[in-house]
Amino acid sequence: MASKFDYDLFVIGGGSGGVRAARMAAGTGARVAIVESHRYGGTCVIRGCVPKKLFSYAAHYHEDFEDAAGFGWTVGEQRFDWRRLMANKNAEIARLEGIYERLLNDAGVAIHRGHGRLLDAHGIEVEGSAQSGAQNPNRSFRAETILIATGGAPSYPPGPGWEFAISSNEVFELDALPERAVVYGGGFIAVEFASIFNGLGVQVTEIYRGPQILRGFDDDVRDALAAEMVKKGIALRLETTIDHIEKTASGLALRLSDGETLETDLVLAATGRRPNTGNLGLSAAGVALNEGGAIMVDAYSCSSQPNIYAVGDVTDRIALTPVAIAEAMAFVDTVYRGTPRAMDHTSVPSAVFSHPTVATVGLSEHEAREVCAEIDIYRSSFRPLRHTLTGRDERAMMKLIVDRRSQKVVGAHMVGADAPEIIQGIAVAIKAGATKRDFDATVGIHPTAAEEFVTLREPVAEPSRQAAE
Ligand code: NDP
Repeated sequence: MASKFDYDLFVIGGGSGGVRAARMAAGTGARVAIVESHRYGGTCVIRGCVPKKLFSYAAHYHEDFEDAAGFGWTVGEQRFDWRRLMANKNAEIARLEGIYERLLNDAGVAIHRGHGRLLDAHGIEVEGSAQSGAQNPNRSFRAETILIATGGAPSYPPGPGWEFAISSNEVFELDALPERAVVYGGGFIAVEFASIFNGLGVQVTEIYRGPQILRGFDDDVRDALAAEMVKKGIALRLETTIDHIEKTASGLALRLSDGETLETDLVLAATGRRPNTGNLGLSAAGVALNEGGAIMVDAYSCSSQPNIYAVGDVTDRIALTPVAIAEAMAFVDTVYRGTPRAMDHTSVPSAVFSHPTVATVGLSEHEAREVCAEIDIYRSSFRPLRHTLTGRDERAMMKLIVDRRSQKVVGAHMVGADAPEIIQGIAVAIKAGATKRDFDATVGIHPTAAEEFVTLREPVAEPSRQAAE
């Protein structure tokens, strides 16, 4: 008997989470379709993690050329060509986009282009540009299960003049670099782009409303990164807001909360992202949203409508690509492999590609003090070996947080070169429940910064800033 559904699974959103779920579900024999309104690859590939990291590499050469002198090199004239970087970045992103589509095709997923909207709990309407590879000539379909993976979009603060600012979408399409830029916010995107612009020679002011950047991170990390960013020439203005923005003959004039007017050429609003849940027909399909507009899901990523699931940034969990992918895998196990599995959101490591980089896994000192009866803090701040010859005044900071009773390491934090590469390995140990003794019993790799994590012997005697407050 023919199925009353065109597809077993219809995925709305072709980013990291949606593409992974579509491919893996199709691999189990399910009939799967996917729709994307922009470009396959989503935020991470098209205007997020990947191009950001390419820009971050580009920005680091500035210091690398300077540092080379200490190692005996004479480096010739340095000129930076933004257009060449953009062209190379665009070519790489187009290549990755092609790979995403090829993987979907190879898995037998029907690829649709356009805006997908729910008509009811099983109906999907696709409007927009022509579809390709679809089995059904109609523009509306019925699917047994629907997965929403539409991600998020940048949000601007309220107030006049924000139409003159750009977001982290437009920053990847700039025709030219400005001479001066203001980055507004103190989160991931703000510190990453303050570092990128600064490294590329832009005069950068980062303005943040709070007392220290990277709220939610360990306070030693926040202080250490802020100090290094200031040393690199970024003007950091804390406890300050932008009240309005005006266009002037020579650029933009920002009226700040302290009464000052700041002139700049470009304002990047890095003030958070909101879930893409508008115009999706969610209420018609019985899908409930939370106060922030995110799809509410249970531990299995199931929404309030039992056949509709959601993964990634469109839900209000952890807005990171690998988390969306892991949620997608758990969804496929649950619905298509007969092995229901809730995604484990504990001890998810994360990194900030600022200069220097930050990486972290587990609890901050502040969080650990709330969860554990007693903790020991191990901390080291040092000048990396490389900078003994470059003369650069840059310090690395590493910190372990140990639950004194169980002796488990509950948090690891680092600010310094290669922190994300180092913390990825430490995250395995923490996920496996390693104790401080396990760290101590591990032989270091010498000479590295990473070995500090296994040679920290004495807990710090004096309380850290956050404990003292
Ligand atoms: P974040 O939530 O990290 O930071 C937003 C910043 O904007 C905060 O400093 C916040 O201040 C500030 N802010 C929010 N609203 C206002 C307002 N109305 N006025 C003034 N300031 C405001 O968001 P991002 O946009 O930087 O990044 C979004 C998410 O994307 C991140 O949370 C992260 O999950 C992900 N991401 C991950 C990256 C990585 O893995 N390396 C890189 C980039 C993004 P306050 O702290 O006071 O609330």
